[in-house]
Formats: sequence, C-alpha cells, structure tokens
Amino acid sequence: MKTYQMYIDGAWTDAAGKETFESKNPYTGAPWAVIPRGQQEDADHAVAAAIRAFRSDDWTGMTATNRGHLLRKLGDLIADNAEALARTEVQDNGKLFNEMFFQLKYVPEWFYYYAGLADKIEGSVIPIDKPDMLNFTRYEPLGVCVGITAWNSPLLLLAYKLAPALAAGNTFIAKPSEFTSASTLELAKIVDQVGLPKGVFNVVTGFGAEVGASLVEHEDVAKVAFTGSEKTGRLISEVAARTFKKVTLELGGKSPNIVFADAEMDNAVNGVISGIFAASGQTCIAGSRLLVEHSVHDAFLDKLLKLARTARIGDPMDTDTQVGPVTTEQQLEKVLGYIDVAKGEGAETLMGGRRPDRPELGNGWFVEPTIFGGVRNDMRIAQEEVFGPVLSVIPFDSADEALSIANDSSYGLAAGVWTQDIRKIKHFSERLQAGTIWANTYRVISYMTPLGGYKNSGLGRENGQNAIYQYLQTKSIMISTASAVANPFIMR
Ligand code: NAD
Repeated sequence: MKTYQMYIDGAWTDAAGKETFESKNPYTGAPWAVIPRGQQEDADHAVAAAIRAFRSDDWTGMTATNRGHLLRKLGDLIADNAEALARTEVQDNGKLFNEMFFQLKYVPEWFYYYAGLADKIEGSVIPIDKPDMLNFTRYEPLGVCVGITAWNSPLLLLAYKLAPALAAGNTFIAKPSEFTSASTLELAKIVDQVGLPKGVFNVVTGFGAEVGASLVEHEDVAKVAFTGSEKTGRLISEVAARTFKKVTLELGGKSPNIVFADAEMDNAVNGVISGIFAASGQTCIAGSRLLVEHSVHDAFLDKLLKLARTARIGDPMDTDTQVGPVTTEQQLEKVLGYIDVAKGEGAETLMGGRRPDRPELGNGWFVEPTIFGGVRNDMRIAQEEVFGPVLSVIPFDSADEALSIANDSSYGLAAGVWTQDIRKIKHFSERLQAGTIWANTYRVISYMTPLGGYKNSGLGRENGQNAIYQYLQTKSIMISTASAVANPFIMR
C-alpha cells in the first residue's frame, strides 16, 4: 500500500482530522493506496493558502512571460514522468495503459499551448465617444480557481483547467475524484519541482459531498471548473450561484454516431467501436447511440459484431488488451443495472450483456462489450448515460429522421456522421445540437479545439484559445485629460 498526503501551501499534509480512505485497483478489486479524507477545515486551509498566493507579489508581480516559462517547465517534467503517471492512473481507473500512456504524453501540450498564450492576452484601446478621455481594457485573473475532476482521465481533465488558469495568473486548488486521487497527488510532486510560489497550486483530496462541497461553498473561491456527472454539475451550479462564482461545467452525454448507407463501412465500423468500447465506454463523448440507415443495417451490424467479438478483454497494463474493467464497483453495478433495464424494455442483446465468464479475470470489474439491437430512442437505454461499454443500435430511413432522433436527447456533447457526401456532412454539422461534430472520424480531441456541451452536457468550453477567457475578467480603465468638470451634478 502506498500512502499519500495532500499538497497545500507548498507542503505535504495529512487531513486535519487524520482520516483516510482507500483507493482500489479495478483490475484486482484490491486496495492499493491510502488517501487523506479532507473535510471543510482542509478546504479552508487550501483556500487561505491560495488567496495568500494570489495576493503575493511573488505571483501577481510575475510577468506573464515568466508564468509561461514555468508552465513550459511543468510540461517538460510531465513529459519526463508520463509513463509513471500513466501507470498510476491505470492502477486507479483500470483504463488501458496504452491509452493512458498516449494521453499522458499528450498532456504537456496543454501547458505549452497556454504558456504561449499567457503573454498574448491583450486588452484594447476603446475609441470612446467622450472628449479628453483615454479608455482601455485589460484582462485580469479571477483569483482562486477550483478544479473538480472525474475519474476517467484525471490528469487530462485537470490539464484542461489548470493550464489556462495558471497562464491567466490565477491560483488553483485541484480536487480529484475520490476514486482516482493518486495521479493528481503525483502531479503535485512534479509541480513542487517547478518553482511556482507556494500556494499557487494545491491539491485537496476526499469525497465530493465533503471537501468538494466545502470548496464550492467557500466565498473566497472565484471560479469552479468541473468535469463530472449532470447531477453533480447541477448541484455545483446552484451552490456556486449563491456566491456568484464563475462556473464551467463539462458533463455527460448520449452522443449519436450516425452511419449512412454511403459511408465507408470499414472506417465507420472502426469509429463506432472506438467510440463506445475504448475506455470501456467511460468517456463523456462515448458514441453510445448508433443510428444506422435501414438499407445497410444488417450488413453493417454483421461487420460490427464480427469485429467487436474479437475484443481482447484483460489486464489493462498488458499492451495487448483492448478492453479493460470499468473503474469502480458502483460503476459495475450501474452498468449491469442498465443492461437489465434495456432487456426489460425489450431491446435485443446482440452481444455481451453480462460479466465475462472467465475465472482468470478474478475479481476485476469487467463487463463484456455489449450491443443492443431493436432500440427505440424513447427507451431509457437510449436516453440515459450508462458510462460503460454498452451500445444501442437504432435504425433510420431518412436523413430527416436521423436528425430528429439524434437531437431527441437532453444531452448535446458530441455527434459523429459517417458518409461520403459532403452535402450531408454540412447539413448535419449545422443542425446537430452538439458541441463537437466529427465527420468520418470519432473521439478526437486537441488542446487547440474547444470542447463542451449543448443542453444538459454543460456550460462553457474548455481548450482552445478562448478557454483562457473563462479564467479572466475584463477591467475598463478611463483616464480623463480634461482640465475641469463643467457641472459636477450632471453625469456625462
Ligand atoms: P461525479 O459527478 O460523481 O463526480 C465528479 C467529481 O465531483 C468528483 O471529484 C467528485 O468528488 C465531485 N463531487 C461530487 N459531489 C460533489 C459536490 N456536492 N460538490 C463538489 N464536488 C462534488 O462524476 P464521476 O462519476 O466522477 O464522472 C463521470 C461523469 O463525468 C460522467 O457523467 C461523464 O460523462 C462525465 N465526464 C464529462 C467529461 C466532459 O468533458 N464533458 C469528461 C469526463 C467525464
């Protein structure tokens, strides 16, 4: 067992109440790390440190160029430690080492990109309609920003928030998921070597309803950037409104992957598979609804099932494995529960639909890749986010019908369109109600590309140049050069 401490004010500390909890490995079901269980006192401690740092000359007096240099150094150190960080994440969330190693090697790009942006944030001179007046704007940081993350990609989701927040000159408190706290604490060891002033970056660990809620309620926190479920996002939004905190929310999805008869079938099959079975379906952007044009429905499903059946389920650390376990025991129960719901609603199990019957997988939290046919879009299995390797197949006859099924969802995170007809791609990309549209590809993300949701999938956007403005506020400055005020009782 590995024992961790929290990182507050540049120092390592246990929770004030000395409480801890265990983190378990999804592949074995066994605990492997001991994590501090923070409470309100720990949240207060971190906010006080972050406020002090925000007001200190060490941080506010630092030029944006020098903040950029520190972020680049952090990116370099993450790159040097990518493999170890990936292994830590796999131990905690059970995702494939192959995928997590690729992800961790990519995370530094967020720090390089926003490092470059740090000293390119320019206010403007307003050609104001008042005589003898100089008016200009400048962008200023918000203050203490809190980043609350989900368990599926802890450090990637943190990078979405931390890199623009620090580039903009804020201070930061990370609160990782209680299921996957270790990699964020490992990251703190790396940040400790970068030379940021103490209190600029802090990590508190513990449960969402305890230390997480205390951070969201805290009146000295200026902003909460959250990735997680719709339910928690709604709660955070409500609580944050009481103190007028800025909020960005990256929530769930029920994204459609739409396959037309004129699609390149093999590419579409690969895209559908990676959309739902990569990461065992535990991505917000999972393509969990497959809409297939009737005329190719049977042929497409034949190909899809043939490939899906070859999936190698096993140890996520093994680079040959293609499908690993789901991250938590609760998630296992939830996914199996949804499989029962789908069966109860009359969906036809085309493959999977249970835990694999393989003793060598031991106590791992595995679910077989599952495909349901005969799904109607009004069924719960087509409307609710499962967050597991479960695909619902819905046939359609016309483009209009496909569009109306695709948009008939309370979510709007992403959508995929598979066709060789550029007119169809244009038509759909303009009408699909989703923050990201992929055509003839799926599940591609980049630090340069805005990511976020329509409808109940969230608020605001992460990534890309504009994301830095979610960590800044505008100040307008007016300087009068007039010699005397004509009449002080009249506002001009
Ligand atoms: P969750 O909402 O249960 O937890 C997310 C985080 O919120 C955790 O750190 C948790 O401790 C914290 N939290 C819980 N209650 C809280 C409270 N009252 N106050 C403050 N913090 C609280 O979500 P999860 O199960 O960890 O993650 C899965 C969800 O995340 C899925 O819905 C998925 O779609 C979504 N997700 C979205 C994106 C995206 O970019 N849109 C990316 C990954 C995951």
